[in-house]
Amino acid sequence: AKQAGRNCWRFYEPILLQKTYEKLLLTNGLRRGLERGEFSLYYQPQFTVTGDEVIGFEALLRWVSPEHGLVPPDRFIPLAEQSGLILPIGQWVLQEACRFARRLADLGQENLCVAVNISPRQLLSEDFVTNVRDGIIMAGIKPNQLEIEITESVFIESMEDAVVKLRQLQAIGVTLSLDDFGTGYSSLTYLRNLPVGILKIDKSFIDKIITDEMQLQVVGSIIDLGHNLGLTIVAEGVENREQLSILTEAGCDRIQGYLFSKPLVEEAAVRLLS
Ligand code: C2E
Ligand code: CA
Ligand code: CA
Ligand code: CA
Repeated sequence: AKQAGRNCWRFYEPILLQKTYEKLLLTNGLRRGLERGEFSLYYQPQFTVTGDEVIGFEALLRWVSPEHGLVPPDRFIPLAEQSGLILPIGQWVLQEACRFARRLADLGQENLCVAVNISPRQLLSEDFVTNVRDGIIMAGIKPNQLEIEITESVFIESMEDAVVKLRQLQAIGVTLSLDDFGTGYSSLTYLRNLPVGILKIDKSFIDKIITDEMQLQVVGSIIDLGHNLGLTIVAEGVENREQLSILTEAGCDRIQGYLFSKPLVEEAAVRLLS
Protein backbone atom coordinates (compact mmCIF):
# COMPACT_ATOMS: atom_id res chain seq x y z
CA ALA A 1 0.00 0.00 0.00
CA LYS A 2 1.13 3.50 -0.71
CA GLN A 3 0.44 6.49 1.43
CA ALA A 4 -1.41 9.12 -0.56
CA GLY A 5 -2.25 12.20 1.40
CA ARG A 6 -2.41 12.19 5.20
CA ASN A 7 -5.15 9.88 6.30
CA CYS A 8 -5.90 8.04 3.19
CA TRP A 9 -4.24 4.92 1.85
CA ARG A 10 -4.35 3.86 -1.74
CA PHE A 11 -3.82 0.23 -2.64
CA TYR A 12 -2.20 -0.92 -5.83
CA GLU A 13 -4.68 -2.79 -7.92
CA PRO A 14 -3.37 -6.17 -9.13
CA ILE A 15 -3.78 -4.93 -12.68
CA LEU A 16 -1.57 -1.93 -11.93
CA LEU A 17 1.07 -4.17 -10.43
CA GLN A 18 0.95 -6.36 -13.48
CA LYS A 19 1.42 -3.34 -15.72
CA THR A 20 4.40 -2.17 -13.71
CA TYR A 21 5.90 -5.61 -14.00
CA GLU A 22 5.29 -5.70 -17.74
CA LYS A 23 7.00 -2.34 -18.13
CA LEU A 24 9.96 -3.58 -16.17
CA LEU A 25 10.24 -6.66 -18.36
CA LEU A 26 10.01 -4.62 -21.54
CA THR A 27 12.56 -2.11 -20.30
CA ASN A 28 15.01 -4.89 -19.50
CA GLY A 29 14.27 -6.34 -22.92
CA LEU A 30 15.08 -3.00 -24.52
CA ARG A 31 18.43 -2.85 -22.78
CA ARG A 32 19.37 -6.31 -23.95
CA GLY A 33 17.84 -5.67 -27.37
CA LEU A 34 20.37 -2.99 -28.12
CA GLU A 35 23.25 -5.30 -27.22
CA ARG A 36 21.79 -8.16 -29.22
CA GLY A 37 21.06 -6.11 -32.30
CA GLU A 38 17.27 -6.55 -32.24
CA PHE A 39 16.52 -3.11 -33.66
CA SER A 40 16.11 -2.15 -37.26
CA LEU A 41 14.97 0.84 -39.24
CA TYR A 42 12.19 0.89 -41.79
CA TYR A 43 12.00 3.73 -44.26
CA GLN A 44 8.74 5.30 -45.34
CA PRO A 45 9.04 7.36 -48.51
CA GLN A 46 7.61 10.85 -48.86
CA PHE A 47 6.26 11.80 -52.25
CA THR A 48 5.25 14.84 -54.25
CA VAL A 49 1.45 15.14 -54.38
CA THR A 50 1.48 13.55 -57.82
CA GLY A 51 2.98 10.44 -56.25
CA ASP A 52 5.54 9.93 -58.98
CA GLU A 53 8.56 11.37 -57.24
CA VAL A 54 10.20 10.34 -53.98
CA ILE A 55 11.46 13.34 -52.01
CA GLY A 56 12.89 11.56 -49.01
CA PHE A 57 12.31 8.97 -46.30
CA GLU A 58 11.32 8.88 -42.66
CA ALA A 59 13.26 6.35 -40.59
CA LEU A 60 10.96 4.37 -38.28
CA LEU A 61 12.35 2.17 -35.55
CA ARG A 62 11.34 -1.49 -35.24
CA TRP A 63 12.07 -3.82 -32.37
CA VAL A 64 11.69 -7.57 -32.67
CA SER A 65 12.39 -9.23 -29.36
CA PRO A 66 12.67 -13.01 -28.93
CA GLU A 67 10.64 -12.71 -25.71
CA HIS A 68 8.06 -10.10 -26.71
CA GLY A 69 7.83 -10.43 -30.48
CA LEU A 70 7.34 -7.32 -32.58
CA VAL A 71 6.82 -4.46 -30.16
CA PRO A 72 5.36 -1.28 -31.72
CA PRO A 73 7.34 1.94 -31.14
CA ASP A 74 4.34 3.61 -29.50
CA ARG A 75 4.79 1.03 -26.75
CA PHE A 76 8.54 0.96 -26.28
CA ILE A 77 9.58 4.56 -27.06
CA PRO A 78 7.87 5.92 -23.92
CA LEU A 79 9.65 3.27 -21.82
CA ALA A 80 12.93 4.07 -23.51
CA GLU A 81 12.41 7.72 -22.64
CA GLN A 82 11.52 7.02 -19.02
CA SER A 83 14.52 4.76 -18.53
CA GLY A 84 17.00 6.94 -20.40
CA LEU A 85 17.65 4.12 -22.87
CA ILE A 86 16.42 6.46 -25.58
CA LEU A 87 19.89 8.01 -25.55
CA PRO A 88 21.86 4.94 -26.71
CA ILE A 89 18.94 3.74 -28.85
CA GLY A 90 18.52 7.17 -30.45
CA GLN A 91 22.24 7.34 -31.09
CA TRP A 92 22.05 4.01 -32.90
CA VAL A 93 19.09 5.29 -34.97
CA LEU A 94 21.00 8.44 -35.89
CA GLN A 95 24.07 6.54 -37.09
CA GLU A 96 22.01 3.99 -38.97
CA ALA A 97 19.99 6.71 -40.73
CA CYS A 98 23.19 8.57 -41.67
CA ARG A 99 24.58 5.34 -43.10
CA PHE A 100 21.41 4.93 -45.20
CA ALA A 101 21.68 8.55 -46.36
CA ARG A 102 25.25 7.80 -47.44
CA ARG A 103 24.05 4.78 -49.36
CA LEU A 104 21.50 6.98 -51.15
CA ALA A 105 24.22 9.50 -51.99
CA ASP A 106 26.40 6.70 -53.36
CA LEU A 107 23.48 5.76 -55.59
CA GLY A 108 23.46 9.30 -56.95
CA GLN A 109 20.49 10.32 -54.78
CA GLU A 110 22.16 12.83 -52.52
CA ASN A 111 19.19 15.17 -52.88
CA LEU A 112 17.04 12.73 -50.88
CA CYS A 113 16.62 13.52 -47.20
CA VAL A 114 16.44 10.93 -44.42
CA ALA A 115 14.31 12.04 -41.46
CA VAL A 116 14.91 10.80 -37.94
CA ASN A 117 12.52 11.08 -34.99
CA ILE A 118 14.12 12.69 -31.96
CA SER A 119 12.49 12.47 -28.55
CA PRO A 120 12.56 15.50 -26.21
CA ARG A 121 14.98 13.88 -23.81
CA GLN A 122 17.36 13.15 -26.67
CA LEU A 123 17.22 16.65 -28.14
CA LEU A 124 17.80 18.22 -24.75
CA SER A 125 20.68 15.91 -23.85
CA GLU A 126 24.10 17.50 -23.59
CA ASP A 127 25.80 15.57 -26.38
CA PHE A 128 23.05 15.65 -28.96
CA VAL A 129 24.32 18.39 -31.26
CA THR A 130 27.85 16.95 -31.16
CA ASN A 131 26.48 13.50 -31.94
CA VAL A 132 24.60 14.82 -34.94
CA ARG A 133 27.71 16.59 -36.24
CA ASP A 134 29.84 13.47 -35.72
CA GLY A 135 27.22 11.25 -37.35
CA ILE A 136 27.21 13.43 -40.46
CA ILE A 137 30.98 13.58 -40.67
CA MET A 138 31.49 9.87 -40.07
CA ALA A 139 28.95 8.93 -42.73
CA GLY A 140 30.34 11.53 -45.11
CA ILE A 141 26.98 13.03 -46.03
CA LYS A 142 25.86 16.58 -46.67
CA PRO A 143 24.20 18.00 -43.53
CA ASN A 144 20.98 18.76 -45.40
CA GLN A 145 20.60 15.07 -46.22
CA LEU A 146 19.68 14.58 -42.59
CA GLU A 147 16.33 15.76 -41.31
CA ILE A 148 15.53 15.99 -37.61
CA GLU A 149 11.88 15.57 -36.61
CA ILE A 150 10.88 16.97 -33.27
CA THR A 151 7.47 17.30 -31.65
CA GLU A 152 5.90 20.22 -29.88
CA SER A 153 6.17 18.39 -26.57
CA VAL A 154 9.81 19.41 -26.34
CA PHE A 155 8.72 23.04 -26.01
CA ILE A 156 6.56 22.21 -23.03
CA GLU A 157 9.55 20.56 -21.43
CA SER A 158 11.85 23.48 -22.01
CA MET A 159 11.17 26.14 -24.61
CA GLU A 160 14.46 27.98 -24.14
CA ASP A 161 16.76 24.95 -24.18
CA ALA A 162 14.93 23.51 -27.15
CA VAL A 163 15.28 26.69 -29.18
CA VAL A 164 19.00 26.87 -28.38
CA LYS A 165 19.46 23.29 -29.63
CA LEU A 166 17.45 23.93 -32.77
CA ARG A 167 19.57 26.96 -33.60
CA GLN A 168 22.75 24.92 -33.14
CA LEU A 169 21.35 22.24 -35.42
CA GLN A 170 20.37 24.88 -37.95
CA ALA A 171 23.94 26.16 -37.88
CA ILE A 172 25.18 22.67 -38.74
CA GLY A 173 22.85 22.71 -41.73
CA VAL A 174 20.47 19.86 -41.00
CA THR A 175 16.84 20.13 -42.02
CA LEU A 176 14.43 20.60 -39.13
CA SER A 177 10.81 19.57 -39.10
CA LEU A 178 7.97 19.85 -36.63
CA ASP A 179 6.18 16.51 -36.38
CA ASP A 180 2.60 15.71 -35.33
CA PHE A 181 1.71 19.34 -35.85
CA GLY A 182 -1.61 20.30 -34.34
CA THR A 183 -1.75 17.66 -31.63
CA GLY A 184 0.07 19.37 -28.83
CA TYR A 185 1.07 22.86 -27.93
CA SER A 186 -0.07 24.00 -31.38
CA SER A 187 0.71 27.62 -31.01
CA LEU A 188 1.00 29.00 -34.48
CA THR A 189 2.58 32.20 -33.26
CA TYR A 190 5.78 30.69 -31.89
CA LEU A 191 6.46 28.97 -35.20
CA ARG A 192 7.77 32.23 -36.58
CA ASN A 193 10.65 32.16 -34.11
CA LEU A 194 11.71 28.59 -34.71
CA PRO A 195 14.32 27.62 -37.29
CA VAL A 196 12.02 24.88 -38.60
CA GLY A 197 11.62 24.36 -42.35
CA ILE A 198 9.00 21.63 -42.50
CA LEU A 199 5.61 21.10 -40.87
CA LYS A 200 4.12 17.64 -40.69
CA ILE A 201 0.36 17.66 -40.23
CA ASP A 202 -0.69 14.86 -37.92
CA LYS A 203 -2.63 11.89 -39.23
CA SER A 204 -5.50 12.59 -36.84
CA PHE A 205 -6.39 15.65 -38.95
CA ILE A 206 -5.88 13.90 -42.25
CA ASP A 207 -8.23 11.12 -41.09
CA LYS A 208 -11.12 13.54 -40.73
CA ILE A 209 -10.79 15.87 -43.71
CA ILE A 210 -13.20 13.85 -45.85
CA THR A 211 -16.03 13.76 -43.35
CA ASP A 212 -15.51 16.84 -41.27
CA GLU A 213 -15.73 20.25 -42.95
CA MET A 214 -14.34 21.89 -39.84
CA GLN A 215 -11.19 19.72 -39.89
CA LEU A 216 -10.75 20.50 -43.55
CA GLN A 217 -10.78 24.20 -42.71
CA VAL A 218 -8.20 23.65 -39.99
CA VAL A 219 -5.89 21.76 -42.34
CA GLY A 220 -6.38 24.44 -45.00
CA SER A 221 -5.41 27.15 -42.51
CA ILE A 222 -2.35 25.24 -41.34
CA ILE A 223 -1.17 24.89 -44.94
CA ASP A 224 -1.75 28.58 -45.72
CA LEU A 225 -0.15 29.77 -42.54
CA GLY A 226 2.80 27.43 -43.02
CA HIS A 227 3.32 28.67 -46.55
CA ASN A 228 3.17 32.26 -45.34
CA LEU A 229 6.00 31.41 -42.98
CA GLY A 230 7.94 29.83 -45.83
CA LEU A 231 7.48 26.26 -44.59
CA THR A 232 7.10 23.05 -46.56
CA ILE A 233 3.99 21.10 -45.58
CA VAL A 234 3.86 17.33 -45.32
CA ALA A 235 0.60 15.44 -44.77
CA GLU A 236 1.03 12.26 -42.73
CA GLY A 237 -1.04 9.11 -42.85
CA VAL A 238 -2.67 9.70 -46.22
CA GLU A 239 -4.54 6.50 -46.98
CA ASN A 240 -6.89 7.20 -49.88
CA ARG A 241 -7.43 9.15 -53.08
CA GLU A 242 -10.11 11.37 -51.60
CA GLN A 243 -7.72 12.67 -48.96
CA LEU A 244 -5.05 13.10 -51.61
CA SER A 245 -7.22 15.20 -53.89
CA ILE A 246 -8.39 17.40 -51.02
CA LEU A 247 -4.79 17.92 -49.88
CA THR A 248 -3.63 18.63 -53.42
CA GLU A 249 -6.41 21.19 -53.78
CA ALA A 250 -5.40 22.78 -50.46
CA GLY A 251 -1.81 23.18 -51.70
CA CYS A 252 -0.07 20.57 -49.55
CA ASP A 253 3.51 20.00 -50.70
CA ARG A 254 4.30 16.41 -49.76
CA ILE A 255 2.47 13.20 -49.02
CA GLN A 256 3.43 10.40 -46.68
CA GLY A 257 1.09 7.51 -46.10
CA TYR A 258 -0.06 4.02 -46.99
CA LEU A 259 -1.71 5.29 -50.18
CA PHE A 260 1.72 5.65 -51.77
CA SER A 261 3.82 3.40 -49.56
CA LYS A 262 4.10 1.75 -46.18
CA PRO A 263 7.42 1.87 -44.32
CA LEU A 264 9.87 -0.37 -46.19
CA VAL A 265 12.91 -2.41 -45.31
CA GLU A 266 16.09 -0.77 -46.59
CA GLU A 267 16.44 -2.97 -49.67
CA ALA A 268 12.86 -2.28 -50.73
CA ALA A 269 13.38 1.44 -50.18
CA VAL A 270 16.43 1.36 -52.45
CA ARG A 271 14.58 -0.70 -55.06
CA LEU A 272 11.83 1.91 -55.15
CA LEU A 273 14.34 4.40 -56.54
CA SER A 274 15.56 2.33 -59.45
P1 C2E B 1 5.36 9.33 -36.18
O1 C2E B 1 6.68 9.98 -36.12
O2 C2E B 1 4.17 10.21 -36.24
O3 C2E B 1 5.43 8.34 -37.42
C1 C2E B 1 4.36 8.10 -38.28
C2 C2E B 1 3.66 6.81 -37.90
O4 C2E B 1 2.50 6.66 -38.72
C3 C2E B 1 4.50 5.56 -38.13
O5 C2E B 1 4.11 4.62 -37.15
C4 C2E B 1 4.03 5.12 -39.52
O6 C2E B 1 4.27 3.75 -39.77
C5 C2E B 1 2.57 5.43 -39.42
N1 C2E B 1 1.93 5.66 -40.72
C6 C2E B 1 2.44 6.26 -41.81
N2 C2E B 1 1.53 6.32 -42.81
C7 C2E B 1 0.40 5.75 -42.33
C8 C2E B 1 -0.92 5.52 -42.88
O7 C2E B 1 -1.22 5.86 -44.03
N3 C2E B 1 -1.81 4.90 -42.07
C9 C2E B 1 -1.52 4.50 -40.80
N4 C2E B 1 -2.47 3.88 -40.09
N5 C2E B 1 -0.29 4.72 -40.25
C10 C2E B 1 0.65 5.34 -41.01
P2 C2E B 1 5.17 3.78 -36.34
O8 C2E B 1 6.31 3.38 -37.24
O9 C2E B 1 4.43 2.70 -35.61
O10 C2E B 1 5.76 4.82 -35.30
C11 C2E B 1 4.97 5.34 -34.27
C12 C2E B 1 5.67 6.47 -33.57
O11 C2E B 1 6.81 6.00 -32.85
C13 C2E B 1 6.22 7.53 -34.50
O12 C2E B 1 5.16 8.37 -34.89
C14 C2E B 1 7.24 8.20 -33.61
O13 C2E B 1 6.62 9.10 -32.75
C15 C2E B 1 7.75 7.03 -32.80
N6 C2E B 1 9.04 6.57 -33.39
C16 C2E B 1 9.28 5.72 -34.40
N7 C2E B 1 10.60 5.55 -34.61
C17 C2E B 1 11.21 6.34 -33.71
C18 C2E B 1 12.60 6.62 -33.40
O14 C2E B 1 13.55 6.15 -34.04
N8 C2E B 1 12.83 7.48 -32.35
C19 C2E B 1 11.83 8.06 -31.65
N9 C2E B 1 12.14 8.89 -30.64
N10 C2E B 1 10.54 7.84 -31.91
C20 C2E B 1 10.22 6.98 -32.92
CA1 CA C 1 7.79 11.38 -37.30
CA1 CA D 1 4.08 12.25 -37.06
CA1 CA E 1 2.51 10.34 -34.36
